[in-house]
Amino acid sequence: CGIVGYVGSQSALEVVLAGLKRLEYRGYDSAGAAVLADGAIAVAKKSGKLVNLEKALVDRPLPAGATGIGHTRWATHGGPTDANAHPHLDGARRVAVVHNGIIENFADLRHELAARGHVLRSETDTEVVAHLLAEEFSGCADLAEAMRLVCRRLQGAFTLVAVHADVPDLVVGARRNSPLVVGVGEDEAFLASDVSAFIAHTRSAVELGQDQVVQVRRDEVVVTDFYGRPADVRHYRVDWDAAA
Ligand code: GLU
Repeated sequence: CGIVGYVGSQSALEVVLAGLKRLEYRGYDSAGAAVLADGAIAVAKKSGKLVNLEKALVDRPLPAGATGIGHTRWATHGGPTDANAHPHLDGARRVAVVHNGIIENFADLRHELAARGHVLRSETDTEVVAHLLAEEFSGCADLAEAMRLVCRRLQGAFTLVAVHADVPDLVVGARRNSPLVVGVGEDEAFLASDVSAFIAHTRSAVELGQDQVVQVRRDEVVVTDFYGRPADVRHYRVDWDAAA
């Protein structure tokens, strides 16, 4: 339902949680976040309100990291449980992904992954994406290219934002029939389903077009279509009231 990603020099977890709070008004049944730290992915996710996630983080803090993603979920496939909350990881816990929307062909993709020995741990349509991204990344070692290859196989509506433990300075996003905006800051960048998630940090934004993939580093925004063809990066200024 709500998505936030961050790469920069602040605490990614703090930026992500504050962004999710700004998206709370949209409604949700679970929340979660992942941070890249010490060459690994650390995850916390909880059913219920953001305050449940915050309590869990007090009991079991995540290590500090400057790259992270977060999600508030409105369940469509699988009940509102901790296990079904996003982010979802691949079996080796190298990829984390958050998703808004519905992957319509997830059942076929699940069967295909199971046949190749993957063990899926949730009932969501989303988890297949983490496993497919991990497979494609192991072939090309390029997370944006892995995202393009995976998106070409997906049917339905999706905003996807993903990180890989091997590339801790990078966040990758993609969209089809679901919104995704990049916020461009001073030596930091944001991805979100809605500008309100990062408006406290920057008003310089890039809106993704239909069927596009974006590769975001703290000083880089590269947009392509699902086939790797470069797309225009259309910067604009968010001019509505930050208090809205
Ligand atoms: N279909 C996904 C799920 O049920 C994402 C739902 C959402 O947009 O929050 O987990």
